[in-house]
Amino acid sequence: MERILVSACLLGRPVRYDGTGKRSDHRVFERWRAEGRLVPVCPEVHGGLPVPRPPAEIRGGLGGDVLDGRARVVTRDGEDVTAYFLEGARQALEQARANGVRMAILKESSPSCGVARVYDGTFSGASVPGEGVTSALLERHGIAVFAEDSIDEAATHLADLER
Ligand code: SF4
Repeated sequence: MERILVSACLLGRPVRYDGTGKRSDHRVFERWRAEGRLVPVCPEVHGGLPVPRPPAEIRGGLGGDVLDGRARVVTRDGEDVTAYFLEGARQALEQARANGVRMAILKESSPSCGVARVYDGTFSGASVPGEGVTSALLERHGIAVFAEDSIDEAATHLADLER
């Protein structure tokens, strides 16, 4: 059975920066959960950040730029938290490998887990197209990453993997 890496907050775990979760009740997601496919990770917590924690955004690029040292992750107060985000991404990849994972469902817009959008580093609520740090690392290692609003596409991908 294919296992699927998933942002822990999408399972309702209260690991977000503000101490909340963001549970998905999509029926396909619920079925995967009942089947025992889901491998939860919270890169920011695994990387060593507390709950709650100050919100952070990528400044100067996207997740891949952070991996390559061209951009940083900073809090609203300007604290550089890049090292935590890199460690969290590394831990998520380790979890994926340990569980034979080939696909992931991650929380959109997060500086770690964002898939198609991330906030732009100005803390103004504006976002730009692109991925977070963990999404970028997983993709570089051949793991297909989907956002929680693309679960139907993810289900099609899963069916292809299991064919
Ligand atoms: Fe959710 Fe990912 Fe943020 Fe953790 S790092 S709270 S899993 S979006």
